[in-house]
Amino acid sequence: MSGRILIIDTVATNRIVLKVKMLSAQFSVDACSSRIEAEAIIATNRPDLILINLSDPVEDRHSFCQALRQDPQTASIAIIAVGVADTSRARFAALDAGADDVLPRPMNDTLLLARIRSLLRVRSATEELMLRDSTSRALGFEDARASFENAANVALLAPIETDHPAFRAVLQTGLGVPVRILDSNAVLRSNHVQPTPDLFVIDGTHVDTHQAKLFGLVSDLRSRSDTRLSTLLIIVPDGAPDIAAMFLDLGADDVVAASTSDGEITLRAKALVRRKLLHDRLRDTVRNGLHAAVTDPLTGLYNRRYVDPHLARMAEQANSAGREFAVMMMDIDHFKAINDTYGHSAGDRVLVQLAERLRENLRAIDLVARVGGEEFLVAMPRTTTAQAHATANRLRRLVNCRPFDLGDDMPRLRVTVSVGVAVSHQDGVTSRLPDQICNRADAALYAAKSAGRDQVAMSRSAAA
Ligand code: GH3
Ligand code: MG
Ligand code: MG
Repeated sequence: MSGRILIIDTVATNRIVLKVKMLSAQFSVDACSSRIEAEAIIATNRPDLILINLSDPVEDRHSFCQALRQDPQTASIAIIAVGVADTSRARFAALDAGADDVLPRPMNDTLLLARIRSLLRVRSATEELMLRDSTSRALGFEDARASFENAANVALLAPIETDHPAFRAVLQTGLGVPVRILDSNAVLRSNHVQPTPDLFVIDGTHVDTHQAKLFGLVSDLRSRSDTRLSTLLIIVPDGAPDIAAMFLDLGADDVVAASTSDGEITLRAKALVRRKLLHDRLRDTVRNGLHAAVTDPLTGLYNRRYVDPHLARMAEQANSAGREFAVMMMDIDHFKAINDTYGHSAGDRVLVQLAERLRENLRAIDLVARVGGEEFLVAMPRTTTAQAHATANRLRRLVNCRPFDLGDDMPRLRVTVSVGVAVSHQDGVTSRLPDQICNRADAALYAAKSAGRDQVAMSRSAAA
């Protein structure tokens, strides 16, 4: 795995030992001794992960960690605190200052590397989501859920019934949410845990007797479609760094030794829940952004951006299956006069109601899109010339037969549309490219307008 690592330690031998280990694991490495040097390196050569000696007596490393966390530019850099006294107080202080993990000396190399890999994986996921999120924002999509607050869903997974109620109470108090106890056998058997937990806390302290099963459980949860985005915190036996490293490599997000204080476990659990909810929120923004990118906010119909690739796919399928497809261009007649006479919002109501009528009167496989101010496109796969003509006429009548509601204190208004239709294999003319068929439908629409409006015209090649 590639990644850039910054080592911060005042003791030269510590730096050298760590640097050699990191280089042999194929990471790029910078090393320095002071905060000032570190800040210069971060500014010019941003690391993915920092290994910082928190017990350096020379400078206040805790406040440096806090500062890194608070600056949006550096907040997502992973931090592992090394050289911390192995007491629960020192560990808690390091995590509280913003470190992702604490590895006291002597460090277990296997565990250190597994932890680095795990943190780098998460970091690249976070950065990718943030990048997509900022793309959505750059394109102008609002974050609709700025005030979004999601209650976390937490489950405690235990292979054997032991003292779980007490531990569950600790988690519930610490996290402030109810914690379900799930039986790991049942989870392994089912393929759908409902509702899906944001965090699984897994009791892995019996790993010596249930090793294969617990490892299987973690990789199972990581790969299943329902739980692959959940975070996993594993409680491992004391003094078993290789097992902890194994869990991390299988996809656990964090591991803690069984003797770890309740306060530290809660702190770590909280960090995982927070990260999971952040990722969910970013993913949602991207999804909403994508939806917003291809739909028209007034009518909810697809827009031009969606139509082009959709038509290209439809044309491809039609060509390979040797079937026709049809494209209809529909334009409201004298729409400007509706705006001028009754106002813009009355015009908007017409557009919304027209969109509804179209949507409700076509097949699910047909595509309806708003491609211009008062212009709509309907694309219909597996449709012959006769069927397309009949459908276009049916839609035209559906518009002119029932007046539109313009709002309170307004008359109901009769509206008409003109429609141009082109079919892909029409009278020996084959339009393989979506652009060609759209141009032909446009030309037909123009003909329908010229011929007096409120009518359907077939593409010229059909009429000829
Ligand atoms: P024709 O029968 O030849 O199609 O005439 P028309 O008046 O429908 O066509 P024209 O292109 O002259 O006018 C279209 C009008 O549609 C002008 C524009 O202000 C209006 N329009 C475009 N988008 C919207 C919209 O979102 N809401 C409303 N209310 N009006 C819109
Ligand atoms: Mg018009
Ligand atoms: Mg128009």
